Amino acid sequence: MSSVKKYILESLKDQKEIFGDILYEKSINIEVKERQEIKSDRWHVAEKTEVKTDNNLFMEDFQKADNLASLNDMIKECQKCSLGKTRKSFVFGVGNPNADIMLIGEAPGADEDEQGIPFVGRAGKLLTDILIAINLQRDEVYIANIVKCRPPKNRNPLPEEMETCMPYLHKQIELVKPKVILCLGLVASNALLKNKSTLTGLRGNVYELNDIKVMATYHPAALLRNPNWKKGCWEDVKKFRKLYDELVARN
Ligand code: SF4
Repeated sequence: MSSVKKYILESLKDQKEIFGDILYEKSINIEVKERQEIKSDRWHVAEKTEVKTDNNLFMEDFQKADNLASLNDMIKECQKCSLGKTRKSFVFGVGNPNADIMLIGEAPGADEDEQGIPFVGRAGKLLTDILIAINLQRDEVYIANIVKCRPPKNRNPLPEEMETCMPYLHKQIELVKPKVILCLGLVASNALLKNKSTLTGLRGNVYELNDIKVMATYHPAALLRNPNWKKGCWEDVKKFRKLYDELVARN
């Protein structure tokens, strides 16, 4: 890829990180062809998975899991959406199973797909540094993604993929029982909060999800592409830490 094309794509990605699909829905067709291919592929998979194997029946029981390890065992072979066919690793989640604080990103990237752990590589290192900056160790929190398998070429997960995978995340949240959740990036924020706000509109606000307080900030990968956003992220995580401290002080 030429450096100019790469620069343009990175810039578009940055804008999408802030404004989501609103700006690009009608003007960019880059993902449309891929979506159509995946949609037809998905139907193919759906037809195939209509025949219930023992494995599928096992996965449908995942709501009965009473801890994270058994949930992982129940769903790790999942093929409910097309991402199951292209992943190298199923990336469940990592961290303290009883954490008060949960961080949620959108999807595994290449490093995560290789290692089966969320937020490794450069973005993961930056996330660890962000946590340290607000006096948190990485193993104190629990980290997961909206979808558990890497979307090809690091594209955003499609709405239907997120919808299919989301019950697993909700079950993780139910088992971890965090007091606060920090969404990393617009895609994760919109998916978890079920809204279409921009990141600018979401940042700094406190939302509620089943009595859990939820805030949003930039995805660390976006901060690597655009270091100017680090200042805003710092403001967000300070507020997040303050919110957490207030909740702990109240209980
Ligand atoms: S992304 Fe989620 S729903 Fe799709 S195959 Fe992976 S685990 Fe299953």
